[in-house]
Amino acid sequence: MLCAMPVRNYVVAVAVLGACSAGAATDSAESIVSQEIFPEYTWQALGNGIYVHRRAETLAGPVDGNSIIIINDEDVFVVDTHINPAAARAVIGKIRELTDKPVAFAVNTHWHDDHTNGNHAYKQAFPEVKIVSHQATLKSLRQEWEVLEDGRRASYANYSAAELRASAAQVEADDPGRAIGLRVFAGYVEALVPELPTMQLVYPDLVFATRMEFVRGERRIVLEWMGRGNTDGDVIVWLPDDDVLITGDVLVAPIPYAFDSPMIEWVATLERLGGLGAGTIIPGHGAVQHGPRYLEQMVSLLEFTIAAVRDAHAAGVEYADLADAVDLGEFEALFTQGDPKRARAWRSYYSEPGLASAWASLGYPVPEEEEE
Ligand SMILES: [Zn+2]
Repeated sequence: MLCAMPVRNYVVAVAVLGACSAGAATDSAESIVSQEIFPEYTWQALGNGIYVHRRAETLAGPVDGNSIIIINDEDVFVVDTHINPAAARAVIGKIRELTDKPVAFAVNTHWHDDHTNGNHAYKQAFPEVKIVSHQATLKSLRQEWEVLEDGRRASYANYSAAELRASAAQVEADDPGRAIGLRVFAGYVEALVPELPTMQLVYPDLVFATRMEFVRGERRIVLEWMGRGNTDGDVIVWLPDDDVLITGDVLVAPIPYAFDSPMIEWVATLERLGGLGAGTIIPGHGAVQHGPRYLEQMVSLLEFTIAAVRDAHAAGVEYADLADAVDLGEFEALFTQGDPKRARAWRSYYSEPGLASAWASLGYPVPEEEEE
């Protein structure tokens, strides 16, 4: 899923990260979509009717956001709807196993397609469901979703799941991490390719600017915009009675995404999140975090990155030389833990786009040929 090409823009990133991993391509596509092609997803029950559906292989591309079920007294609330309708249908199947209550609301924490493409499946399964987002998310979906999906269609239409699995078998012995990545990608191709031509986005029905509170029986569900970090319309979902915070992609584990991020505002946003004092934090991608440690590490990482880029600029380093000149040393070790898959993701998802984002956030001029 990762390649040597530096990627700074989210739309470009999703279009190329999957494609550059896979190798073989043909013009045939598997057409069978079933839940069995998603063995790499796991369920985690947090108690009190809260469940998290997420990729076990968080870093294998194309990445998919976590999807969360919250079962209330009379209905169900869902946060984020996955990257494709098939993955959303897997969640809907689980909901129907757990309860006969309908899904009344589904929140999109932001506009990226790994959090919104399943909206359509929810409308089909629960015609009364309301899709909820920040107003900036609706605007971005109207402006950018079609472009994003055109990129997906162009990138993935010619991959064959069977060939990807054959490639995985070939590299299994020498590079088991790559074999896993190829199998996850094969599952994605199998699920998505048949649906790509007809996939429709269902736009949010309800949008807000700063805060929205739902009272569902005994439970309060607070949606809040706490500032920018990942997109213009990042919404957090806070369950004060459950002590659970759902962050969307302002917090992603184990390696953060820093594509086009407003780094200075992002620090302030994360500090506001930390101020909630949540005991359980569900990031936009990756494992559920207990306590504030990971969030605090993120704040430290961003502050260090911004300071390092400021120092480099003051020392006369040019934009093109940032990656060579700036050492994020101890943070790379902290976040990657010596794992080669994490190290590749660190470069593609954080260090290269993060240095560029910090440079832009500090207001330094970006050479014209470097702009997207
Ligand atoms: Zn995401």
